[in-house]
Amino acid sequence: MQRGELRRILLDSLPVGAVRWGHKVSGVRALGEGRHEVAFADGTTLTTSLLVGADGAWSRVRPLLSDAAPEYVGRSFIETHLFDGDTRHPASAKAVGGGSLFALAPDKGIQAHRESSGTLHTYMAFSKPQEWLAVSISPIPPRQSRGSHASSTTGHRSSPH
Ligand SMILES: Cc1cc2nc3c(=O)[nH]c(=O)nc-3n(C[C@H](O)[C@H](O)[C@H](O)COP(=O)(O)OP(=O)(O)OC[C@H]3O[C@@H](n4cnc5c(N)ncnc54)[C@H](O)[C@@H]3O)c2cc1C
Repeated sequence: MQRGELRRILLDSLPVGAVRWGHKVSGVRALGEGRHEVAFADGTTLTTSLLVGADGAWSRVRPLLSDAAPEYVGRSFIETHLFDGDTRHPASAKAVGGGSLFALAPDKGIQAHRESSGTLHTYMAFSKPQEWLAVSISPIPPRQSRGSHASSTTGHRSSPH
């Protein structure tokens, strides 16, 4: 199942209005007795009797519990999507085959799989210094990329996935 589809199913199971979109948390403050004030980037605040921090690697809530901060673990990933793989990128589609492709070597590797829409989704992994991506990759304008899309993500996580 595509991640977006799972997300849609979970969101559809919630009462209308349960999710308030477009509210970026700028800070949280303990008020005592388990209550917290949550401040948002638009200047509004709310007070809650139960606060669950599920805001990812750069969580605004985690500092209430821990001094731990994300750190680069030495692995950078470049992610690509080749749309209409069989038609527009037949050589790549043939290499990936009917399921997944893993081509792994010391300090680098390629992982690719087919998605339900016919997209070939690829991660290229490199063990490189954190600055490497910034100086090595230039964004490709959409028209030149001919239907493919590349983005990069640096490894701000405790372990490679
Ligand atoms: C390219 C890539 C591929 C991955 N592939 C896999 C995989 O194949 N298998 C696997 O198990 N894991 C994979 N992971 C890791 C996995 O995505 C993460 O471990 C997981 O999403 C972490 O979940 P989370 O709920 O902690 O944070 P997230 O999924 O990052 O969710 C945090 C949410 O909080 C929101 N948020 C953040 N800051 C604020 C703020 N200040 N105010 C309001 N909202 C905020 C964000 O918008 C987001 O919706 C991958 C990660 C990446 C980047």
